[in-house]
Amino acid sequence: MGTFTLVIHGGAGTILRASMTAEKEAAYRDALEDALKAGYALLKKGNTAIDAVRAAVVSLEDNILFNAGRGSVFTKDGRQEMDAAIMNGKDLMAGAVSAVRNIRNPIELAYTIMTKSEHVMLNGEGAAEFAKLHRLKTEPDDYFYSEFRYDQLKKAQETGETMLDHNVEVQDKKFGTVGAVACDTHGNIAAATSTGGMTNKQFGRIGDSPIIGAGTYANNKTCAISCTGHGEPFLRAVTAYDVSCLMEYKGLSLEEAMNIVVHDKLMKIDGEGGMIGVDAKGNGAMVFNSEGMYRGMRNSNGINEIAIYK
Ligand code: ASP
Repeated sequence: MGTFTLVIHGGAGTILRASMTAEKEAAYRDALEDALKAGYALLKKGNTAIDAVRAAVVSLEDNILFNAGRGSVFTKDGRQEMDAAIMNGKDLMAGAVSAVRNIRNPIELAYTIMTKSEHVMLNGEGAAEFAKLHRLKTEPDDYFYSEFRYDQLKKAQETGETMLDHNVEVQDKKFGTVGAVACDTHGNIAAATSTGGMTNKQFGRIGDSPIIGAGTYANNKTCAISCTGHGEPFLRAVTAYDVSCLMEYKGLSLEEAMNIVVHDKLMKIDGEGGMIGVDAKGNGAMVFNSEGMYRGMRNSNGINEIAIYK
């Protein structure tokens, strides 16, 4: 039995210790712990990497602290539109959704598209119809409402800006997308990412998270990657797949490849953010070029950490 590993993130950005209260920090740590527990318990039982990343992301989507599922940010017309993707490194199967509304767990919809349709990605109304057909859980608008996010929207609208999850004046500037990558006992790897995108975004805007190869990618030959950060540069850099390419064609290790992409390639195009990764030997890594990234890693060799700041 090989090493099994789960790595999660809850977004990156200007997360400063100075503007964090002890209660807030404890709440974030608890939320990360819950997600790690949910996914790791499955890996320990011998379940697949796909099951583990789903469970971890569902846990984060259900938590209002993160910009995904329940805690998703508002679009400029005051609604939530969510993006998510999941990919299995064993067979390169993938499922994704973009701009979906009222779906409780967009990652479950992405998974259902992967396993129950001939497509990779559905959006908007077509995705909603598919979700209904497969009885995915929906929630009314007020389930997704939080005063804190609504204040962010109002603030963003005063300045006319599109904001990446949080503006410093409102809270720390951070990209609160969530994601998980895992390597199971059989050496299969998987990645999942889910997000509400950007505060005050144009409705219909799609970020990097649901785009296979940009925000999410998994291939047993190389790595499983989930990104978080300013979606537009991440899209232009084909970020997650670039890590895989550096490993496949240049023979780099997971961490070497992630460092080049995050600290060199993304930095050159103002791509603030980070990513988590695993390879099929169970090595995990968490790399970011921002002030902080909500993150956690647990594996069968005893690694067990949760961290926020640099
Ligand atoms: N990458 C996401 C997006 O641009 C935002 C984030 O990571 O928080 O939609």
